[in-house]
Amino acid sequence: MKNNKKIFAGIEAGGTKFVCAAGNSLGEVIERETFPTTTPKETMACVNEFLARMDAKYKLSAIGIASFGPIDPDPKSPDFGHITTTPKPGWGHFNIVGSVKEKFNLPIGFDTDVNGAALGESRWGNGQGLDSLVYWTVGTGIGAGGMLAGKMMHGLIHPEMGHTFVNHDRVKDPFPGVCPFHKDCLEGLASGPSMKARWGVKSATDLPADHQAWDLEADYLGHAMANCILTLSPKKIIIGGGVMFRTELYAKIRKKTKELLNGYIQHRLILKDIDNYIVAPGLGNNAGVCGALAIAEASSP
Ligand code: ZN
Repeated sequence: MKNNKKIFAGIEAGGTKFVCAAGNSLGEVIERETFPTTTPKETMACVNEFLARMDAKYKLSAIGIASFGPIDPDPKSPDFGHITTTPKPGWGHFNIVGSVKEKFNLPIGFDTDVNGAALGESRWGNGQGLDSLVYWTVGTGIGAGGMLAGKMMHGLIHPEMGHTFVNHDRVKDPFPGVCPFHKDCLEGLASGPSMKARWGVKSATDLPADHQAWDLEADYLGHAMANCILTLSPKKIIIGGGVMFRTELYAKIRKKTKELLNGYIQHRLILKDIDNYIVAPGLGNNAGVCGALAIAEASSP
Protein backbone atom coordinates (compact mmCIF):
# COMPACT_ATOMS: atom_id res chain seq x y z
CA MET A 1 0.00 0.00 0.00
CA LYS A 2 1.43 3.37 -0.98
CA ASN A 3 1.69 6.02 1.68
CA ASN A 4 -1.22 8.40 1.09
CA LYS A 5 0.49 11.18 3.02
CA LYS A 6 2.72 11.71 -0.01
CA ILE A 7 1.73 14.69 -2.12
CA PHE A 8 2.24 14.67 -5.88
CA ALA A 9 1.95 17.30 -8.57
CA GLY A 10 0.21 16.53 -11.84
CA ILE A 11 0.37 18.56 -15.04
CA GLU A 12 -2.18 17.85 -17.74
CA ALA A 13 -0.64 19.53 -20.76
CA GLY A 14 -3.35 20.22 -23.31
CA GLY A 15 -3.44 22.07 -26.61
CA THR A 16 -5.63 24.88 -25.22
CA LYS A 17 -4.89 24.78 -21.50
CA PHE A 18 -2.60 23.28 -18.88
CA VAL A 19 -4.36 21.93 -15.79
CA CYS A 20 -2.04 21.67 -12.79
CA ALA A 21 -2.88 19.98 -9.51
CA ALA A 22 -1.49 18.75 -6.24
CA GLY A 23 -3.02 15.56 -4.91
CA ASN A 24 -2.48 12.39 -2.93
CA SER A 25 -2.49 8.61 -3.39
CA LEU A 26 -6.25 8.49 -2.86
CA GLY A 27 -6.72 10.52 -6.03
CA GLU A 28 -7.88 13.54 -4.05
CA VAL A 29 -7.14 16.84 -5.78
CA ILE A 30 -6.04 19.32 -3.09
CA GLU A 31 -5.09 22.27 -5.30
CA ARG A 32 -5.96 22.92 -8.93
CA GLU A 33 -5.00 25.74 -11.27
CA THR A 34 -5.39 26.26 -15.01
CA PHE A 35 -3.15 28.21 -17.41
CA PRO A 36 -3.77 28.91 -21.11
CA THR A 37 -1.44 27.19 -23.59
CA THR A 38 0.39 30.08 -25.26
CA THR A 39 4.14 29.87 -25.89
CA PRO A 40 6.26 27.23 -24.11
CA LYS A 41 8.21 30.00 -22.35
CA GLU A 42 5.11 31.73 -20.98
CA THR A 43 3.11 28.63 -20.12
CA MET A 44 6.02 26.76 -18.52
CA ALA A 45 6.84 29.81 -16.39
CA CYS A 46 3.31 29.58 -14.90
CA VAL A 47 3.66 25.81 -14.44
CA ASN A 48 7.06 26.07 -12.74
CA GLU A 49 5.82 28.85 -10.49
CA PHE A 50 2.85 26.64 -9.47
CA LEU A 51 5.20 23.70 -8.82
CA ALA A 52 7.53 25.85 -6.70
CA ARG A 53 4.59 27.00 -4.56
CA MET A 54 3.29 23.43 -4.14
CA ASP A 55 6.76 22.12 -3.31
CA ALA A 56 7.24 24.82 -0.65
CA LYS A 57 3.82 24.06 0.85
CA TYR A 58 3.67 20.24 0.63
CA LYS A 59 7.18 18.99 -0.11
CA LEU A 60 6.28 17.14 -3.30
CA SER A 61 7.25 13.47 -3.74
CA ALA A 62 7.09 13.43 -7.54
CA ILE A 63 5.76 15.24 -10.61
CA GLY A 64 3.69 13.67 -13.39
CA ILE A 65 3.28 15.17 -16.85
CA ALA A 66 0.46 13.90 -19.07
CA SER A 67 0.90 15.63 -22.40
CA PHE A 68 -0.82 16.11 -25.72
CA GLY A 69 1.15 14.37 -28.39
CA PRO A 70 2.79 12.96 -30.21
CA ILE A 71 5.52 12.70 -27.56
CA ASP A 72 8.65 10.64 -26.97
CA PRO A 73 8.01 8.63 -23.77
CA ASP A 74 11.03 6.28 -24.13
CA PRO A 75 13.55 7.05 -21.33
CA LYS A 76 16.31 5.48 -23.48
CA SER A 77 15.70 7.80 -26.41
CA PRO A 78 17.68 11.04 -26.88
CA ASP A 79 14.34 12.82 -27.44
CA PHE A 80 12.77 11.51 -24.22
CA GLY A 81 10.51 14.10 -22.64
CA HIS A 82 9.89 16.00 -25.87
CA ILE A 83 6.64 16.82 -27.59
CA THR A 84 7.47 15.85 -31.18
CA THR A 85 5.52 16.69 -34.36
CA THR A 86 2.66 18.85 -33.09
CA PRO A 87 1.45 21.54 -35.50
CA LYS A 88 0.90 23.78 -32.44
CA PRO A 89 3.23 26.83 -32.95
CA GLY A 90 6.32 26.81 -30.72
CA TRP A 91 5.65 23.41 -29.17
CA GLY A 92 7.10 21.14 -31.86
CA HIS A 93 10.24 19.39 -30.53
CA PHE A 94 9.89 21.15 -27.18
CA ASN A 95 11.55 19.40 -24.22
CA ILE A 96 8.74 19.67 -21.69
CA VAL A 97 10.29 17.29 -19.13
CA GLY A 98 13.64 19.09 -19.38
CA SER A 99 12.02 22.46 -18.71
CA VAL A 100 10.67 21.12 -15.38
CA LYS A 101 13.68 18.97 -14.52
CA GLU A 102 16.10 21.90 -14.61
CA LYS A 103 14.11 23.52 -11.78
CA PHE A 104 13.13 20.53 -9.62
CA ASN A 105 15.26 17.67 -8.39
CA LEU A 106 12.30 15.24 -8.16
CA PRO A 107 11.22 12.06 -9.97
CA ILE A 108 9.29 13.12 -13.09
CA GLY A 109 6.91 10.73 -14.84
CA PHE A 110 5.94 11.42 -18.43
CA ASP A 111 3.31 9.91 -20.69
CA THR A 112 0.55 10.82 -23.13
CA ASP A 113 -2.57 12.55 -21.80
CA VAL A 114 -4.68 9.53 -22.72
CA ASN A 115 -2.32 6.95 -21.19
CA GLY A 116 -2.38 9.13 -18.08
CA ALA A 117 -6.18 9.29 -18.03
CA ALA A 118 -6.34 5.50 -18.44
CA LEU A 119 -3.95 5.04 -15.51
CA GLY A 120 -5.96 7.51 -13.38
CA GLU A 121 -9.23 5.69 -14.18
CA SER A 122 -7.62 2.36 -13.27
CA ARG A 123 -6.45 3.77 -9.91
CA TRP A 124 -9.48 5.80 -8.84
CA GLY A 125 -12.15 5.87 -11.54
CA ASN A 126 -14.25 3.49 -13.64
CA GLY A 127 -11.40 1.08 -14.36
CA GLN A 128 -10.52 0.12 -10.79
CA GLY A 129 -9.22 -3.42 -10.45
CA LEU A 130 -8.76 -3.86 -14.21
CA ASP A 131 -5.38 -4.66 -15.77
CA SER A 132 -6.63 -3.87 -19.26
CA LEU A 133 -8.59 -0.87 -20.47
CA VAL A 134 -8.59 1.79 -23.18
CA TYR A 135 -9.30 5.49 -22.59
CA TRP A 136 -10.50 7.63 -25.51
CA THR A 137 -10.81 11.38 -25.64
CA VAL A 138 -13.08 12.94 -28.26
CA GLY A 139 -12.73 16.71 -28.31
CA THR A 140 -10.43 19.16 -30.09
CA GLY A 141 -8.54 16.06 -31.14
CA ILE A 142 -9.18 12.35 -30.82
CA GLY A 143 -6.75 10.09 -29.01
CA ALA A 144 -6.64 6.86 -27.10
CA GLY A 145 -4.27 5.14 -24.74
CA GLY A 146 -4.48 2.52 -22.09
CA MET A 147 -3.03 -0.52 -20.45
CA LEU A 148 -2.74 -4.15 -21.38
CA ALA A 149 -1.76 -6.83 -18.83
CA GLY A 150 -1.09 -4.05 -16.30
CA LYS A 151 1.39 -2.18 -18.50
CA MET A 152 0.83 1.19 -20.17
CA MET A 153 0.70 0.95 -23.95
CA HIS A 154 4.08 1.89 -25.36
CA GLY A 155 5.61 0.35 -28.40
CA LEU A 156 7.66 1.87 -31.14
CA ILE A 157 6.29 5.16 -29.74
CA HIS A 158 2.72 5.08 -28.40
CA PRO A 159 -0.66 4.31 -29.96
CA GLU A 160 -2.31 7.06 -32.02
CA MET A 161 -5.71 5.48 -32.45
CA GLY A 162 -7.33 8.85 -33.12
CA HIS A 163 -5.67 8.81 -36.54
CA THR A 164 -6.82 5.35 -37.61
CA PHE A 165 -8.96 5.06 -40.71
CA VAL A 166 -12.69 4.42 -40.56
CA ASN A 167 -15.25 3.74 -43.33
CA HIS A 168 -15.95 7.07 -45.01
CA ASP A 169 -19.06 6.88 -47.18
CA ARG A 170 -18.60 9.96 -49.38
CA VAL A 171 -22.19 9.80 -50.65
CA LYS A 172 -23.60 10.03 -47.15
CA ASP A 173 -20.85 12.37 -45.91
CA PRO A 174 -19.04 14.33 -48.65
CA PHE A 175 -17.08 16.33 -46.03
CA PRO A 176 -13.35 15.84 -46.83
CA GLY A 177 -12.08 15.83 -43.21
CA VAL A 178 -9.83 18.24 -41.30
CA CYS A 179 -6.74 16.25 -40.28
CA PRO A 180 -3.66 18.15 -41.59
CA PHE A 181 -1.86 14.83 -42.03
CA HIS A 182 -4.57 12.44 -43.33
CA LYS A 183 -7.72 14.46 -44.12
CA ASP A 184 -10.37 11.81 -43.37
CA CYS A 185 -8.88 9.74 -40.57
CA LEU A 186 -11.07 9.34 -37.45
CA GLU A 187 -9.90 12.68 -36.00
CA GLY A 188 -10.39 14.33 -39.39
CA LEU A 189 -14.02 13.16 -39.51
CA ALA A 190 -15.19 13.06 -35.90
CA SER A 191 -13.25 15.59 -33.76
CA GLY A 192 -14.94 18.75 -32.46
CA PRO A 193 -13.29 20.92 -35.18
CA SER A 194 -14.50 18.54 -37.92
CA MET A 195 -18.08 18.82 -36.63
CA LYS A 196 -17.79 22.61 -36.50
CA ALA A 197 -16.49 22.77 -40.07
CA ARG A 198 -18.94 20.22 -41.49
CA TRP A 199 -22.08 21.75 -39.98
CA GLY A 200 -20.97 25.42 -39.78
CA VAL A 201 -21.52 25.84 -36.03
CA LYS A 202 -19.43 27.57 -33.35
CA SER A 203 -19.27 24.49 -31.15
CA ALA A 204 -20.23 20.87 -31.86
CA THR A 205 -22.31 20.82 -28.70
CA ASP A 206 -24.51 23.64 -30.15
CA LEU A 207 -26.03 21.11 -32.58
CA PRO A 208 -29.53 20.07 -31.41
CA ALA A 209 -30.00 16.55 -30.04
CA ASP A 210 -32.08 15.44 -33.05
CA HIS A 211 -29.53 16.70 -35.62
CA GLN A 212 -28.21 14.04 -38.01
CA ALA A 213 -24.69 15.06 -36.92
CA TRP A 214 -24.96 12.85 -33.84
CA ASP A 215 -25.85 9.68 -35.75
CA LEU A 216 -22.95 10.31 -38.11
CA GLU A 217 -20.65 10.96 -35.14
CA ALA A 218 -21.76 7.71 -33.48
CA ASP A 219 -21.22 5.90 -36.76
CA TYR A 220 -17.54 6.95 -36.91
CA LEU A 221 -16.94 6.39 -33.20
CA GLY A 222 -18.71 3.01 -33.38
CA HIS A 223 -16.25 1.97 -36.09
CA ALA A 224 -13.39 3.12 -33.88
CA MET A 225 -14.68 1.19 -30.85
CA ALA A 226 -15.30 -1.97 -32.86
CA ASN A 227 -11.76 -1.76 -34.29
CA CYS A 228 -10.39 -1.15 -30.80
CA ILE A 229 -12.19 -4.22 -29.40
CA LEU A 230 -11.09 -6.38 -32.34
CA THR A 231 -7.47 -5.22 -32.08
CA LEU A 232 -6.77 -4.89 -28.35
CA SER A 233 -9.61 -6.74 -26.58
CA PRO A 234 -9.68 -4.32 -23.64
CA LYS A 235 -11.71 -5.22 -20.54
CA LYS A 236 -13.35 -1.79 -20.57
CA ILE A 237 -13.54 1.27 -22.83
CA ILE A 238 -13.84 4.71 -21.24
CA ILE A 239 -14.69 7.69 -23.47
CA GLY A 240 -14.21 11.28 -22.30
CA GLY A 241 -13.56 14.66 -23.95
CA GLY A 242 -15.64 17.73 -24.79
CA VAL A 243 -17.75 16.19 -27.58
CA MET A 244 -18.90 13.49 -25.11
CA PHE A 245 -20.58 16.14 -22.96
CA ARG A 246 -23.47 15.24 -25.27
CA THR A 247 -24.18 12.14 -23.19
CA GLU A 248 -26.81 10.77 -25.59
CA LEU A 249 -23.82 9.82 -27.77
CA TYR A 250 -22.90 6.93 -25.45
CA ALA A 251 -26.06 4.93 -26.25
CA LYS A 252 -25.66 5.61 -29.97
CA ILE A 253 -22.00 4.53 -29.95
CA ARG A 254 -22.78 1.32 -28.02
CA LYS A 255 -25.54 0.44 -30.49
CA LYS A 256 -23.32 1.05 -33.53
CA THR A 257 -20.41 -0.90 -32.01
CA LYS A 258 -22.65 -3.93 -31.35
CA GLU A 259 -24.15 -3.69 -34.82
CA LEU A 260 -20.70 -3.68 -36.46
CA LEU A 261 -19.36 -6.56 -34.32
CA ASN A 262 -22.53 -8.47 -35.27
CA GLY A 263 -22.27 -11.11 -32.54
CA TYR A 264 -18.74 -12.11 -33.48
CA ILE A 265 -17.17 -11.29 -30.10
CA GLN A 266 -18.88 -13.78 -27.79
CA HIS A 267 -18.53 -12.11 -24.43
CA ARG A 268 -21.33 -11.38 -21.98
CA LEU A 269 -20.13 -7.77 -21.48
CA ILE A 270 -20.53 -6.95 -25.14
CA LEU A 271 -23.59 -9.09 -25.87
CA LYS A 272 -25.64 -8.34 -22.74
CA ASP A 273 -24.01 -5.55 -20.72
CA ILE A 274 -22.40 -3.08 -23.11
CA ASP A 275 -23.76 -0.19 -20.96
CA ASN A 276 -21.13 -1.20 -18.38
CA TYR A 277 -18.44 -1.85 -20.97
CA ILE A 278 -18.36 1.43 -22.94
CA VAL A 279 -18.64 4.09 -20.23
CA ALA A 280 -17.92 7.72 -19.29
CA PRO A 281 -14.89 8.59 -17.10
CA GLY A 282 -15.50 7.97 -13.39
CA LEU A 283 -13.27 10.95 -12.57
CA GLY A 284 -15.32 13.28 -14.77
CA ASN A 285 -13.68 16.62 -15.39
CA ASN A 286 -10.61 15.60 -13.35
CA ALA A 287 -9.85 12.48 -15.44
CA GLY A 288 -6.96 14.21 -17.20
CA VAL A 289 -5.26 15.84 -14.25
CA CYS A 290 -5.82 12.77 -12.03
CA GLY A 291 -4.05 10.88 -14.80
CA ALA A 292 -1.05 13.18 -14.37
CA LEU A 293 -1.17 12.56 -10.60
CA ALA A 294 -1.26 8.79 -11.23
CA ILE A 295 1.81 9.14 -13.48
CA ALA A 296 3.57 11.03 -10.67
CA GLU A 297 2.61 8.36 -8.13
CA ALA A 298 3.89 5.61 -10.42
CA SER A 299 7.26 7.39 -10.80
CA SER A 300 7.68 7.91 -7.04
CA PRO A 301 10.01 5.44 -5.33
ZN1 ZN B 1 -5.07 12.08 -38.91
